[in-house]
Amino acid sequence: MPDNDPIDRLRRDITDVLDPSLATSELTDHLALRMIALGTSAPDSPMGKVTSRKSDVHSSQTELRTAVGDVLYEHGLGPDRVGSVLAPHVDEWSPPTPSQLAPLQIDQRHLAQPDEIDVAYDAVVIGSGAGGGVAARSLAKEGWKVLVVERGSLPDRHSMLTEHLHTPRSASELFPFSGPGSDSETRQVLFPAHRVRSVRASRPEWGNNAMTLGGGTRVYGAQAWRFAPLDFTMATSYGIPDGSSLADWPITYEDLEPYYSRIEQDLGVSGGPSRDPWDGPRSAELPMGPLPPSPLGELLDAAADRMNMGTQPVPMLINTRPYAGRRACIQCSQCVGFDCPVGARAGSHNTTLPAALATGNTTILPGAQVARIRIGSGGLATGVDLVGDRRGTRWARQITVRLVVLAAGAIESARLLLDSANDEHPDGLGNDTDQVGRHLQGHTYGGASALFNHNVVDLKGPGPIISTADFRHGNDGVIGGGILANEFVPTPANALRSLYDTGLIDETTPVGSPTAERAMLRFARIMGPVQEVTSEGSRIRLDRRRSDRFGRSIARLEGTLHPEDLRAQELLSTRSAEWLREAGASTIRQMPKVTWPTGPSGGQHQAGTCRMGADPRTSVVDPMGRLWNHENIIVADGSVHVTNGGANPVLTILANALRISEHAARTH
Ligand SMILES: Cc1cc2nc3c(=O)[nH]c(=O)nc-3n(C[C@H](O)[C@H](O)[C@H](O)COP(=O)(O)OP(=O)(O)OC[C@H]3O[C@@H](n4cnc5c(N)ncnc54)[C@H](O)[C@@H]3O)c2cc1C
Ligand code: SF4
Repeated sequence: MPDNDPIDRLRRDITDVLDPSLATSELTDHLALRMIALGTSAPDSPMGKVTSRKSDVHSSQTELRTAVGDVLYEHGLGPDRVGSVLAPHVDEWSPPTPSQLAPLQIDQRHLAQPDEIDVAYDAVVIGSGAGGGVAARSLAKEGWKVLVVERGSLPDRHSMLTEHLHTPRSASELFPFSGPGSDSETRQVLFPAHRVRSVRASRPEWGNNAMTLGGGTRVYGAQAWRFAPLDFTMATSYGIPDGSSLADWPITYEDLEPYYSRIEQDLGVSGGPSRDPWDGPRSAELPMGPLPPSPLGELLDAAADRMNMGTQPVPMLINTRPYAGRRACIQCSQCVGFDCPVGARAGSHNTTLPAALATGNTTILPGAQVARIRIGSGGLATGVDLVGDRRGTRWARQITVRLVVLAAGAIESARLLLDSANDEHPDGLGNDTDQVGRHLQGHTYGGASALFNHNVVDLKGPGPIISTADFRHGNDGVIGGGILANEFVPTPANALRSLYDTGLIDETTPVGSPTAERAMLRFARIMGPVQEVTSEGSRIRLDRRRSDRFGRSIARLEGTLHPEDLRAQELLSTRSAEWLREAGASTIRQMPKVTWPTGPSGGQHQAGTCRMGADPRTSVVDPMGRLWNHENIIVADGSVHVTNGGANPVLTILANALRISEHAARTH
């Protein structure tokens, strides 16, 4: 083979970075061919850059090593592909076996095709994620005839259980099986220094959550935090910092409390008892106790005691015993980003959507997008335009409805309202005061990574087992704060990536060497979401000069974190590092400080773009989620959040969707 043959050169590079014990010609051939195949399918990904030599691999050893590590460990740990240290762990750190699987509660037979739907429904629910699933169930239970329209599909389950590099938590930048796919539109993103870039959906800056049946809940980590009472009154409690649009919610914690309790009982949240000093009163305890403690959890618990820091188990939408017709968690080693093999993790696809289907009143149409909401007299919605692609052929349909429930996620909900502009509402629906799309927020994270001198990874999922809520509020000189918890069990590929990226192992450490593999079992991370202090300029707009393959204008993301967020981020990183140090970690890497200005926030915890309020001049929906001036359009997803709490948002999305959809079912 000629010397400049690309496969040959890649083989040599792989041999250089792989531990000699693994560098057989059979394995290096496999890795080279696989890397080229993955790189060709995603030329802009790190894999694509390495295989096409877009980056100088010799000056970017970390990029090359992580790419080799990704492919080495991509489906778990093949016994022939690990060194002596990981060999005893092959069975645990691997995808679940077929015999462990419980059937999904929704399959293709429950889903409609475009030519099977009717021309009229009582309600259309746009999006089948956290908010959409709850809303569909509330309406269907009250006898409404409901069509749920979901942009994503029901992906092949085997792939969602085995493909480590195609999960939304993989840093590989390959399109995740939880959507969107390679046929999705780019977004325009405004970066600091006024640089606007066209960004593909596989890039983190695109701000993806998940676009699949069940939305984010299909693959999420299921941390199920209530927001604290203070989270609903951030402006009153802290004042409004310069440049921010911090505001109070128009409802209180007490208003939402009964709905938090009902979601916890109904879908099944495990954890408790809560020792959160900022927690509000609860009308019921969680229905299930926590997962068993882990060795790392015990170290952190003892350390927290010595530090006089309060801890509690992480509340999870995960069954710790058979509950609500679903099995208990088997603590497999891959949770966040993957399908749950036994259905213990509650998502819309195995809770609210099957319940909506069971009423006989619900039709679910996957692979379809609502492209426009149509408006009739008096500002009332009359129907929606649907578009899709079936076996390569575009189709379009119109349906009439008397209620529209918008639950497409914060970015897409704002996009759809803006793109439904008409002569009477030229700036978009609900946007007479230029509020739609503003206050975009998510969660920037603080945290720290560490190495111990002994194994702390027990490979028992999901991973987060211990948390502290002490730093949610009451931090001197900081607005808000956030919870801290230990992280999910990383995939082998992600563990290796984190070790290289944080410098916990030197970039010359060979992939698959005893040093690298030992570190993978001694690696720990604590992290927490910062309650962001949002501003008006953080927003979604449309780029009307560009459209997707269906002619829909594409979204443009703008804005930056507020400087106050960086203070909170540093606080959470410092506290994480202190906690790990006290627990006995030998080397600690605090998350680097974020440099201001940043790009826009959003991503998996995206929220805020259809702010709920009592005043139409400063909000998009009223306290019952109704779009100002369009009473029969309600918004039931994270976009209505005024602030996004210092904790993961999904329980609040679920509880609020329950509150407003039950109200709509009764009153419309
Ligand atoms: C890997 C991962 C881990 C996470 N872990 C946690 C966690 O531990 N705890 C937590 O609180 N949160 C977590 N989240 C976030 C959580 O999933 C989201 O907060 C939640 O799902 C948002 O709910 P939503 O109703 O706003 O929208 P989504 O759940 O995002 O649902 C919106 C749906 O609308 C569909 N859609 C969009 N546009 C259209 C259109 N025009 N027509 C039809 N359909 C459309 C999308 O395809 C999508 O399925 C995680 C998310 C991910 C991806
Ligand atoms: S660890 Fe997560 S994915 Fe695995 S069984 Fe438990 S809930 Fe399901």
